[in-house]
Amino acid sequence: MSSTTYGVQTPAFVGGTKRLFIGGAWVPAASGKAFDTVNPATGEVIARLAQADQTDIDRAVTAARQAFEGPWNQWTHSDRQRLLIRIHDVVEKHFDELALIETLDMGAPLVRTRGLKSFLLQLILFYASQTAAGGVQTPLNALPGKFATLKIKAPVGVVAGIIPWNGPLLSQWWILGATLATGCTAVLKPAEDASLSALRMAELLQEAGVPAGVINVVTGYGGEAGSALAEHPGVDRIAFTGSPETGRRIVRASAGNFKRVSVELGGKSPDIVFDDANLDKAVPGVAMGVFTNTGQICAAGTRVLVQRRIYDEFIERLKAFSTSLKIGNGLDPQVQLGPIVSQRQLDRVMHYVDVGGQEGAELACGGRRLGGELAAGYFVEPTVFTGVHNDMTIAREEIFGPVASVMPFDTPEQALRIANDTSFGLAGGVWTQNLSTAHRFAQGIQAGTIWVNCYGVLDPQVGFGGYKLSGYGWKGAAEQVDSYLYQKAVYMNLD
Ligand code: NAD
Repeated sequence: MSSTTYGVQTPAFVGGTKRLFIGGAWVPAASGKAFDTVNPATGEVIARLAQADQTDIDRAVTAARQAFEGPWNQWTHSDRQRLLIRIHDVVEKHFDELALIETLDMGAPLVRTRGLKSFLLQLILFYASQTAAGGVQTPLNALPGKFATLKIKAPVGVVAGIIPWNGPLLSQWWILGATLATGCTAVLKPAEDASLSALRMAELLQEAGVPAGVINVVTGYGGEAGSALAEHPGVDRIAFTGSPETGRRIVRASAGNFKRVSVELGGKSPDIVFDDANLDKAVPGVAMGVFTNTGQICAAGTRVLVQRRIYDEFIERLKAFSTSLKIGNGLDPQVQLGPIVSQRQLDRVMHYVDVGGQEGAELACGGRRLGGELAAGYFVEPTVFTGVHNDMTIAREEIFGPVASVMPFDTPEQALRIANDTSFGLAGGVWTQNLSTAHRFAQGIQAGTIWVNCYGVLDPQVGFGGYKLSGYGWKGAAEQVDSYLYQKAVYMNLD
């Protein structure tokens, strides 16, 4: 493919039928089957993906096992550090192409995908800084002269990485980074709706010198390739990011050989605006806390709690901001919000918009699918519901689209009660000038990340994780790296 849209040249990588990356080679699915992948901004098929099944998963896990037990095992931590730095340089060189592939594949605007560059590069460097996490940790000598004791941390083995479609460029790196830093190997299965950036990344990893079989990428459906991978007895650890429904299946599938598991799931995060907040910052901050990536973000602050004294003013300003956002094909440099990833996901979002109305919430703005020149894509307006009660479906279930549910509150106690009255615990936000309120809510909201007077900021050194239905496991920080290692104690008799 070589067409240009908005003056952007489609990368040569996009098009044709892609293969699986197993043991350092590009191979078709054993069954010969493939399926279409679509640009959600236009509805056009942009490539075909190999449809992996059990046979391919067996091959990929075997390749990962052989690599784990091969020369990779002898790489020192500085060898792996140098490798990650080389990867950093290759990814930096090809980043514009990766961002463009991601935009064509899952719809996020170029302003967003290009904007991820510094974070992604920081993330790779963070993992480069963690390569010494394994090895001999604490040479002890508890009983001098009788025993020498060592504590060793060793790579856990073959990792199954299963990721969603909403931001694969980053999602894959939380897994690739920890795998390469610790000396594990991995089989990565990207989501069926957005696999291209993971496939292109596999080429770049190879170019940077990742040995054959250390990272394998298999495309396919969740119920076929995903479940075969999650159940595979040759897998030692599963790093899953996705929905709670699939997360439950993953945990069950892990039980066969007691795989280590992290399940990073959805959210219904509260974003709380107090009447002393600086609304010039809070309004765009809250709005983009919901609408960034067209609402397809696990941590989206979709339950917006606003103190009653400023409620009307806040709604007016939120409506004005939301209706000013430019929606369209993400290749257009002016566009702020792209499409929903697929027809299926669009139907899901529109269903929740209907349910919101039926349950008595007021549609303050948005709520419609966009037609005209955008009719072929899966575009929906940024949507604000007001008069929402926390027991309504739109306040309880994750919509994963650009839908804000706004509700008033009177006292801080009431706000905290509503904030924590949810099955999820991924994130939360607080907008206030009052330091005590900020601290009370940072401690009081039951969630893995709290933002004060900001939303969505992430630091790889600090990491990110959930609580309750949002799952368990931590991405980033030393804790995550440690979860790719197992621990052993060695006692040596010196007599
Ligand atoms: P999903 O659970 O449908 O799919 C996620 C991945 O699992 C895909 O690769 C899919 O093919 C695979 N899969 C599906 N069924 C499977 C099975 N039976 N066995 C093994 N694998 C299977 O989720 P989605 O719709 O792709 O993504 C949206 C969800 O991801 C939302 O709930 C969102 O909140 C969540 N998410 C969470 C985080 C986080 O860090 N907590 C980050 C991004 C997205």
